[in-house]
Amino acid sequence: MKTYTPTIGLEIHAELKTETKMFCDSKNDPHHGEPNSHICPICMGHPGTLPVINKRAVEHVLTVGVALNANLASYTEFDRKNYFYPDIPKGYQISQYAYPLVTGGSLCDVAITRIHLEEDTARSLHDQGEGSIVDYNRAGVPLMELVTEPVIHDAKTAGDFARELQLLLRTLGASDANMEKGEMRVEANISVSDSDSFGTKVEVKNLNSFKSVEGAIAFEIKRQIEQLERGEKVIQETRGWDEVKGKTFAQRIKETANDYRYFPDPDLPKLDLRIGEELSLSRIQEKMPVLPAKKREKYENIGLAREQIEVIISNKFIDTFFSNAVSIDGIEPERIKLTANYLTTDLLPLLSSPAELANCSVSNFVSLMALVHSGKINSRIAKDLLRDVVIDGADPVALIAEKGLEQNNSEEAVMAIIDKVLAEHSAVADEVRTGKDSALQFLVGQCMRASRGSANPQLLASLLRKKILG
Ligand code: ADP
Ligand code: MG
Repeated sequence: MKTYTPTIGLEIHAELKTETKMFCDSKNDPHHGEPNSHICPICMGHPGTLPVINKRAVEHVLTVGVALNANLASYTEFDRKNYFYPDIPKGYQISQYAYPLVTGGSLCDVAITRIHLEEDTARSLHDQGEGSIVDYNRAGVPLMELVTEPVIHDAKTAGDFARELQLLLRTLGASDANMEKGEMRVEANISVSDSDSFGTKVEVKNLNSFKSVEGAIAFEIKRQIEQLERGEKVIQETRGWDEVKGKTFAQRIKETANDYRYFPDPDLPKLDLRIGEELSLSRIQEKMPVLPAKKREKYENIGLAREQIEVIISNKFIDTFFSNAVSIDGIEPERIKLTANYLTTDLLPLLSSPAELANCSVSNFVSLMALVHSGKINSRIAKDLLRDVVIDGADPVALIAEKGLEQNNSEEAVMAIIDKVLAEHSAVADEVRTGKDSALQFLVGQCMRASRGSANPQLLASLLRKKILG
């Protein structure tokens, strides 16, 4: 068999978060409400109506562009992409063709071709008993389309790119980007070639999870190679993805740009983005949140583990809680690590979802971490107190004083406990003398219990060993 190089380019659509739709005042809320409840003559395409550009949507796309180190257009315009289908009541979709808002830039080392702004189409619901329903709540929702260069060569890299874009869109507040809800939709263009030039590409649509993206790409690479190996050609076409069968299937022969007869929309103004105060680069940079890549770098330098960093930055509740808990001037790296560990391994399992962190007390968590870090309480006590202190809001300092849980670092006090425990377990002490480590662990446990968890565990273990073994 020859050696084939797979090539992949992605086209990703994301519904943008704005109050109103792209060109009218209808509510941008396509996933709630009765079908056809957020519509008006403009998004229904009635003749004689005039669209007005939603500035916030333009700002979102420019912000994504800045975050990707891309070029922002100084001039832009909207075009009509003409086609007939019930999901597009005007008979054309307003999109951008020759002058996208953003060009260039990169994410995860994947070069980006362009990002443009357009309007979403209506949703067709088939098999509804009495035929099909067209829900226009989604018609006219602002949609950004990001196109990558054909520079990806395997399924996993494509999946990683899409995951990172989702995280970025969420961080920027540009889109909720849930793939299952269709807020983010990935189309993968795939070709294979055994020469220096590209092979014929196939476009796979309806990928509504990261797993589907990776599965469809892997399947297509294999299918195309097998086809070429049989001496057949790959046909340029659009294919769908059958999640259940784990296969792509032919849908239609692809349209070309020519079929759409793009032309500038005469109802919309051209935008000169050099003069906009609100949409200026400096305004956008000013409002830019800390980006995932920057956070990763910072936490890696502190010494947090990679997987732990991903747990923290990939969920906005965890990320916000953690950022707040470590936003203390001059906080030491060791205490940041301690805080990350308690949050990810001890606090999160006590919650039914990270969203509950929004109701947890950050300040109590910070105090508790300070108490463990300074040795005032030991880790066992800290873990036991997490629920009361962080979830139920009890003051840790008061609670520790009230229950006498302060770590006992006094040799005398710890010795007294050891003597008491050894008096009850002299046989076990003999086992320790014969070299049985589990016997020593048992005694440490008994002593900790006798101290109600407050003894300094290191001190306790060393004193106990000295006492028995001399
Ligand atoms: P079209 O005009 O058919 O829509 P584009 O040139 O606009 O094609 O590219 C659409 C997407 O397909 C882009 O993401 C691009 O990177 C990708 N692409 C283009 N050529 C190939 C190829 N030979 N193999 C894989 N992907 C490709
Ligand atoms: Mg295209």
